[in-house]
Amino acid sequence: MKFNDYKYERPDMSAYAVDMGEKIERFKNAESFSELKEVIKEINVERDKINSMMSIVGIRSSIDTRDEFYQKERLFFDENGPLIAKIDMDYYTAMNNSAFKDEITSEYGEFILDKAKLAVTTISEEVLPLMMTENKLISEYRKLRASAKIEFDGKINNLPQMTPYLMSKDRETRKEALIKTTAFFEENEAEFDRIYDELVKVRTDIAKKLGYENFVQLGYDKLGRTDYTKMDVKNYREQVYKSLVGLSTELKERQAKRIGVDTLMIYDDNFNFKTGNPTPKGEEKWLVDRAATLYKELSPETDEFFTFMRERELMDLTSKEGKAGGGFCDYLPHFKSPFIYSNFNGTSGDVDVLTHEAGHAFQVYMSRNQPISEYYWPTFEAAEIHSMSMEHFAYKWIDLFFEEDTAKYKFNHLNGSINFVPYGVTVDEFQHFVYENPDASPDVRKAKWREIEKKYLPHRNYDGIDLLERGGFWYRQGHIFEMPFYYIDYTLAIMCALQFWHKSNVDMKSAFSDYLELCKRGGSLPFKELVKSANLIVPFEDGAIEKIIAPVKEYLDNVDDFNL
Ligand code: ZN
Repeated sequence: MKFNDYKYERPDMSAYAVDMGEKIERFKNAESFSELKEVIKEINVERDKINSMMSIVGIRSSIDTRDEFYQKERLFFDENGPLIAKIDMDYYTAMNNSAFKDEITSEYGEFILDKAKLAVTTISEEVLPLMMTENKLISEYRKLRASAKIEFDGKINNLPQMTPYLMSKDRETRKEALIKTTAFFEENEAEFDRIYDELVKVRTDIAKKLGYENFVQLGYDKLGRTDYTKMDVKNYREQVYKSLVGLSTELKERQAKRIGVDTLMIYDDNFNFKTGNPTPKGEEKWLVDRAATLYKELSPETDEFFTFMRERELMDLTSKEGKAGGGFCDYLPHFKSPFIYSNFNGTSGDVDVLTHEAGHAFQVYMSRNQPISEYYWPTFEAAEIHSMSMEHFAYKWIDLFFEEDTAKYKFNHLNGSINFVPYGVTVDEFQHFVYENPDASPDVRKAKWREIEKKYLPHRNYDGIDLLERGGFWYRQGHIFEMPFYYIDYTLAIMCALQFWHKSNVDMKSAFSDYLELCKRGGSLPFKELVKSANLIVPFEDGAIEKIIAPVKEYLDNVDDFNL
C-alpha cells in the first residue's frame, strides 16, 4: 500500500463524541486495572484514527492547495478542533481522578500522569475566549508579515523571496536587501508593537486566571517541561555566556577574514564563503538514492525505515505548482507511517530534509509500538535531538551528497551550530524579561532586546540601520509571537546532538546504539530523563557546555577554512 492508497474518510463527529463519551465513562467506572487498560487501548485506537485523518488532510491539502476537496476537509477539522480538544480534556480529567494511578504509573511510567495534569491546569472554560483572542493576534502577525511587498531587483518580493539577495555574493546587494527588508518592519513598527503588546497582555491574563503568577510558568507547562525550571534555563544561559560566546566571536572573526571584510556587518552574517555555500550535487531522485545508501550502511533499522518510506511513497520532496511552502515531518499513527514534506530548492537544505526530517521520521517510526499515543513524540527540545543528531550521524556519508564540497559542508554545519546558540538564548532571555514585566512599554522592550543582544552577540554590528540599532531585530522571529519560550529548545538539542557527533567520531557503533534506544523511548520520559537515558550530559549541568564544545573547537581549529 502506498500513501496515495491510504483511505481518507471524513469522521462522523457526533458519533465520535458519543463513542468517546461512553469509553470515558467506562474508564471512570473501571473496576480493575485490566479493564482500564483495555479502555485506554480502545480510546487510543479512536484518537489515532481521527488524528491520522486530520494529518492526511493536512498533507494532501498542502501538496495541492488547489484541490478543493481537501481544502474543504481542512476547514472541517479547523471547525471541529475545539470539540476534539474538549474530548481529550474529558479523558485527561478522568485520568487525573483515576483510582488506578499507581497501576498507571507502573505500566506506563509517571510521565502520562504529569501530562494529564498539565493538560487540565493549562486551560479552563474561562480562558477559552482569551485563547481565541491570542490565536487571532497570531494570525494578524502572520498576515502582516505576509503582506510585505519589497521592491528589489526590478520586482516586488515577499520576505522569503528576499532570502537569496540577503545571501548574495555581492556585499552591496546584501546590504541593500537588508536595508529594504528592515524598512518593511520599520514602516509597520507600530503594528508589530501593538500585536505583540496585546499578545503579552492576553497571555498574562490567561495565566492569572489559571492561577499562575505570570505567563512564564504557564509557558513552560504548555511545553510539557516537567523536569526542569526557569532557574535551570537561566543557569544554562549563563553557561552559554561564560563558555560559548567567546568561541562564537572567534568564529565570526574567522568569517570576516574568510570573506574579506574588515568588520563583519549584520548583512554578512549568512555569507560564509567567498566561493559560495556548499550545495548538493544532484536533484531529488539522485539525493534519495544516496540517502538510501546512507541508511542502508548506517544500521539495519534505518535501512528498514527508509525502505518503508520509499516503498510506500511517504515523502513529497520537490516544489511544484500549487504546493504550499515549508517542510515538516508528520505521523499517521493509524497506518504506523511517518510522512516527510518539503520543497527542495537546490541548497544544502535539501540534504537537511533527508537527514533532519528523516531523523524525526525515524524516531517516530521506532516509537510506533509505544503503548499510548502520548508517547509517539517527545517534547520539542527532545524531539530535536533525534533530528539534529541524525544530521551528525550522516557525516560519514555526507560526501555522497556534497562531493567536492564535503569539507566545506562539515565546517559550515558545525560552525552554524555554535553560532546559533547565542542567538537562541538571546531570544529566550528576552522572552523571560517580557513576560516577567508584562507592563513594560514597547520601547523598553526594544531597549532590553538590544542590551541582551550585546551580551550574547557582541560581534553583531548593525551598521547604523535604525530599527535594528534600537532593538527591533526580533520582529522577524515568528516564534516570539507564535510560540513563546519554544526557541531555546533548538539550542538544548544542539548541545545533545554535538555529544552524539563527538561520540560517533570515537565509537560509531556504541553512539548509534544509544541513539537507537533513545528513538525507541519516544516521548515516554521528559527531557532530562531522556538525555540521561542516552548517556548524554544534561546541558543545564554546571560545566556541561564547556565539556561539550571542547572537541568541536578542536575540530574547527584544525580546519583550514580560508581554502574552502
Ligand atoms: Zn526539527
